[in-house]
Amino acid sequence: MNIAVIGSGLLGTTTAWFLKKHSHDVTVIERQPSAGLETSKGNGGYVQSGFPEPWNVPGIYKMMLPAWTATLGESSLDAPMLIRTKALPGLTRWGLTFLKNATERKFLANIINNRQLALYTKKALQEIRTEINPDYNASFKGGLWIFRSEEPMQGYKHHLEQMSAHEIQAQFLSADEVIEKEPSLTAIAGKLTGGIHFSEDENGNPLLFCQALAKAAKNAGVKFEYGQTVNKLSKTGNGVRIKTGDGDIETDAIVLAAGSYTPKLARQLGVYVPVKPAKGYSISIPLNDWQPRPSHTIGDMNLHAGLNALGNTLRVAGTGEFTGFDTSISSNRIQSLFRLIEQILPDFAVNMEREKVDPWCGLRPLSADGLPIIGDSGVEGVYLNTGHGGLGFSQSAGSGKALADHIAGKSDRFDLTPFSINRF
Ligand SMILES: Cc1cc2nc3c(=O)[nH]c(=O)nc-3n(C[C@H](O)[C@H](O)[C@H](O)COP(=O)(O)OP(=O)(O)OC[C@H]3O[C@@H](n4cnc5c(N)ncnc54)[C@H](O)[C@@H]3O)c2cc1C
Repeated sequence: MNIAVIGSGLLGTTTAWFLKKHSHDVTVIERQPSAGLETSKGNGGYVQSGFPEPWNVPGIYKMMLPAWTATLGESSLDAPMLIRTKALPGLTRWGLTFLKNATERKFLANIINNRQLALYTKKALQEIRTEINPDYNASFKGGLWIFRSEEPMQGYKHHLEQMSAHEIQAQFLSADEVIEKEPSLTAIAGKLTGGIHFSEDENGNPLLFCQALAKAAKNAGVKFEYGQTVNKLSKTGNGVRIKTGDGDIETDAIVLAAGSYTPKLARQLGVYVPVKPAKGYSISIPLNDWQPRPSHTIGDMNLHAGLNALGNTLRVAGTGEFTGFDTSISSNRIQSLFRLIEQILPDFAVNMEREKVDPWCGLRPLSADGLPIIGDSGVEGVYLNTGHGGLGFSQSAGSGKALADHIAGKSDRFDLTPFSINRF
């Protein structure tokens, strides 16, 4: 088949790579000048398969009102979640599904489904590493979640006990054991109550990974049409017509992997995709010769922030904001990430070169129930690979591989049923 993949973020690029394995003629259409330059660029770099939780956490409704009122005053500066008034009208239908999925039963079931996909991704990443050996600062020490109070840690203990049949590799640590494992946290030892180490987790630089894979895909024969915006999609008798600024492309099938922009494109074909943009920020700062550098992905579960040493750079990521498609960078939010570093790595913060910071924001494509949407769209020849929210790196390669297999009629290799659009 001739297949066009729309979007060359982590999801589009991995899909194109695995589609090519089935010998299709694959064209990737991407509006940016190269792969991975939107949400896949500056994310936290965490490849999370231990406890890939959706945002539909039981009790999340209690955060909704404060997330909106915080936007009205000074408290917005450090609030982990914000809901701007202008975004509210567009969130009604999606929001009801979001809240319906925030029960304990659905939350745990969705973690298990997310975990299956993340474990499949680990295998697919290994396959890619073996084949093309991409240099993306990958590290395999796992994720270390730290706690400054007992209550949230006990909450995770309770959830993990309920999922004991799923053999999640989680080790509970005392504060001393946290420091032993991660000496970069020594300065805050007195503030910690403990931690959880998820040994299956990995990390790496998402942009380097995406670009290395795009290059390898190009060498394997995938055509990349960069700088081309898809303006209009329509069905033809046997396939799909794609209208770009440079003219029309006729193709047998398309994969919509346009991140948060997928619903706008899908709507042109009559498909409702319940995905909304959830803005987040990161900063990357040179680590220089600072020691000891973090060797795990560190998640501070009280401060709602994650940090990673990616090569010689420290990346700190966090915050969730519903503000439509606004991708402007707020200096207040960047300052807030600096304050997080001061609280997690105070020794490093004293000497960090703030003027060399690389500030970034991106729009997480957040599905209404916390699971990505992968597979048939309901319109013949139109496939979906989107809605990965804060887990797009963690689930990228597995999603791309499973979808390519599904399109080739080999659906038995990974069960995509839980990720079907038909659940909505
Ligand atoms: C602050 C932050 C931290 C995060 N941390 C992590 C993490 O640690 N681990 C993790 O697993 N995930 C993380 N994520 C989530 C992850 O980054 C996303 O889930 C993932 O990047 C989504 O990839 P994508 O390919 O779907 O979207 P994108 O990367 O946005 O790719 C979509 C592509 O489609 C293109 N496009 C859109 N519309 C059109 C059009 N009309 N024509 C042509 N091209 C088009 C865009 O240019 C873009 O390149 C984080 C996200 C944020 C914001």
